[in-house]
Amino acid sequence: MHLSNDDLLSKLQAKYQRTSPGRCPVCSGALSVQHKGGGLPLTWACTAAAGQLASVTAGAGSEQHRAHLEVSRYLDYRTGGDARVMELVHRFQKLAEQHPGTT
Ligand SMILES: [Zn+2]
Repeated sequence: MHLSNDDLLSKLQAKYQRTSPGRCPVCSGALSVQHKGGGLPLTWACTAAAGQLASVTAGAGSEQHRAHLEVSRYLDYRTGGDARVMELVHRFQKLAEQHPGTT
């Protein structure tokens, strides 16, 4: 198997780039990582809903925030990428730009 450098880089990027989970379907706000590690998929959820849920005491209003959080939850089964691989890809691309014709 012989891949060109560009093909190899794009395959690595597709595999190791951190996924973009998009926006919260409820409030269009940003999602943030709520849980990672432990062999479980990376869990994203609405940042605003998590903050609201943490700030209200159980009872008044908390059900609404909990539902908001549930709906916004996004599981990333690709385990969140690998920043070190992405760094290597980036460095390689820079080198390739500085030394055209060698790759
Ligand atoms: Zn939201």
